[in-house]
Amino acid sequence: MTIGILGGGQLGYMLALAGYPLGLHFRFFDPSPEAPVGRIAPRVTADFNDEPALEKFANGLELVTYEFENVPVETVRFLAERVPVLPSEKALEVAQDRISEKTLFQELGIPTTEFVPVAGRDDLDAAVKKIGLPAILKTSRMGYDGKGQWHLRTSENVARAKSELPERTAASESRVPYILEKFVRFTRELSVIAVRARTGETAVYPLVENHHRGGILRLSLAPAPHLDPVVQRSAEQAARAVFDELKYVGVLAIEFFEQNGKLLANEMAPRVHNSGHWTIEGALTSQFENHLRAVVGLPLGSTLAIGCSAMLNLIGETPEAAEVLAIRDAHLHLYGKAARAGRKLGHVTLRASSSEQLASRLSELSSFFHRPEYCLDAVLSRPASLRA
Ligand code: AMP
Repeated sequence: MTIGILGGGQLGYMLALAGYPLGLHFRFFDPSPEAPVGRIAPRVTADFNDEPALEKFANGLELVTYEFENVPVETVRFLAERVPVLPSEKALEVAQDRISEKTLFQELGIPTTEFVPVAGRDDLDAAVKKIGLPAILKTSRMGYDGKGQWHLRTSENVARAKSELPERTAASESRVPYILEKFVRFTRELSVIAVRARTGETAVYPLVENHHRGGILRLSLAPAPHLDPVVQRSAEQAARAVFDELKYVGVLAIEFFEQNGKLLANEMAPRVHNSGHWTIEGALTSQFENHLRAVVGLPLGSTLAIGCSAMLNLIGETPEAAEVLAIRDAHLHLYGKAARAGRKLGHVTLRASSSEQLASRLSELSSFFHRPEYCLDAVLSRPASLRA
């Protein structure tokens, strides 16, 4: 059985690695000749709107899934006429637009921060008046890893953002290009990875605590320390509400802000997620295997965590493999990409049987990881913050 995957980055790479033991084969589609999956699977290199290339790609596939949520919806529609595409086109469409995503959350009773759509510079003052400062202005589409965002703390910041925004978009333009969100003074950021099978069976991993720097995920702790079961339940309810609404099949990630013991949903990704990498070694079944089980129609695997894990993203440069692997239960993943500033080149997962052991293994990581961007010091300087 051959599965087609749209996008050929590290998420696709890890999907294929999880699928080979299940006897699955893969074919990738990615516009970039540098896509790392080229090392391990056949790949079609063409633009997402190249219909003859899509036709060739779809030929003989059992189904198509994606590892990248900015695949044009038209591409998925074209493929869906030829072969099943999971998760559905609707899930992709909603997740591509922060306004429709947050609107869906609110319709499903999932709390979010206050937000206002902003059509262009002329709308900004009214939006700021409604939301207040501080606030974050974001492009509603195609933003990722903190790109396309303006932090508005003062009226000078607002004036600056206005000078950078285009005038109001034409009335004929159906999509509103910006969203203004109230700034959330969160206690921490959490994410949930959940999976729904074709049969409707669902499974949810424990919530993960995420630390970002410069808008990019740097460190995840799983399960999130000090996890209140009520908070875990509300994340599970949120995931199940989205599943039911979208008749979803596959892995879904929802990112939250935790504030005063309550969750505010920030965004969702209709795919396997960076904050779920720890599941490869840290859970009974990885998010990658469970995504494949779900889309193929196999029973889901257990989402139980094995002890506790920390996942560190390797951004822009990689450490000495020997230094990482000298630590017991440390696992190094390199994606085979050329080094470039800001690029995710790999990750390290450290697993331990207790939070004390995890803290001690984290502190063994070399000076490479103790630079501020790894967010380790914040965690290690408060050992209690790791405790379950
Ligand atoms: P996003 O692209 O929405 O995931 O935003 C990237 C990061 O910016 C998040 O992980 C948060 O750390 C921060 N952020 C985004 N939106 C807000 C908000 N409304 N209030 C406070 N911080 C935010």
